[in-house]
Amino acid sequence: MVRIALVGCTGSIGSQVLEVVRRYPDRFQISALVAGSNAARLALLAKEFHPKIAFCANVVEKTHKACSHEELFADCDIAFIAASGFTGLAYTMSAIEAGKTIALANKESLVCGGELVMQAAKERGVSIIPVDSEHSAIFQALGCRREAEFKKLILTASGGPFLHCTKEELARVTAKDALKHPTWNMGAKVTIDSATLLNKGYEVIEAKWLYGADFSAIEAVVHPESIVHSLVYFEDGAALAQLGYPDMRVPIQLALTYPERLPCAPALDLAAIGTLHFERLPAERFPCYELALAAGTAGGSAPTVLNAAAEEAVRAFLLGGISFPNIAETIEYALSHTAMSEAGTYEALFEADKKAREAAKTFIHGK
Ligand code: MG
Repeated sequence: MVRIALVGCTGSIGSQVLEVVRRYPDRFQISALVAGSNAARLALLAKEFHPKIAFCANVVEKTHKACSHEELFADCDIAFIAASGFTGLAYTMSAIEAGKTIALANKESLVCGGELVMQAAKERGVSIIPVDSEHSAIFQALGCRREAEFKKLILTASGGPFLHCTKEELARVTAKDALKHPTWNMGAKVTIDSATLLNKGYEVIEAKWLYGADFSAIEAVVHPESIVHSLVYFEDGAALAQLGYPDMRVPIQLALTYPERLPCAPALDLAAIGTLHFERLPAERFPCYELALAAGTAGGSAPTVLNAAAEEAVRAFLLGGISFPNIAETIEYALSHTAMSEAGTYEALFEADKKAREAAKTFIHGK
């Protein structure tokens, strides 16, 4: 029996993790559930899965009745980190300290804390299994060996709903337009990040840390059908890819059953699909992508500042407070108005996150 501590149990990924547990009750058991703030949903899930520990992170923070992270991960075999945002990093670090295998669906853990996380995982001998579809595809193409050799990684990108919009059109798009993703069904934050292509920038940074690749060895290519989930190029010119319908159930389940594969989703009907398309990523119309890469290259606290500003900007955009192009402008403002540090510790990143949010809010309130 594999015991799972699930952080982020009420979101899109968390709900699909619980689907896997329902599908294979003889194999999986939930040892702990952590929700963000959806207490009603958490109560229902706790009744169904009988975890030893269940709490709402936002409520605990307010009441200070904190369950230590040590307790949270003590009884699990796999820590599934599906929380969204910077808060995920603290859980990832605690799960590593507890020496538990991590199924990582929280992008920010690697975007903000890549160096910390990979270093700590190495020291503790902890495996990190990627859940993001692109990184799972690369993992699969490498034979489920993160340390395998390759020449180049190609991340595919659907391009989001605004792929062919002009700059003028992008200035007028609404949150409702941005939430209509053409191929993937995901949470609101990552859907908006897909529309700005910030998400693809995040994924390049994630790939760098997961696979120890230089930025020059990672490329993003637009593939609107989202059937090829990413590719690996090898020294001899061969390329291996993982294909499937855009369905997060596959990478989620594989992260739990790997190296074994169990029935999960329908196989591809290639003839019905017909044609697959690929094109260059239009980075010039999507400044968030370039900003992410620049922050990733700068390192230190820069990616944390970028992410904190993006979290604040996307929240404001969803509430109708700022325009679509203002998202990139908020990030730019925060990057140039927050003191950067070499980071190195979680505390330094936590501080950078707080400062960057203040800067972002200043910019947003001026709009
Ligand atoms: Mg992805």
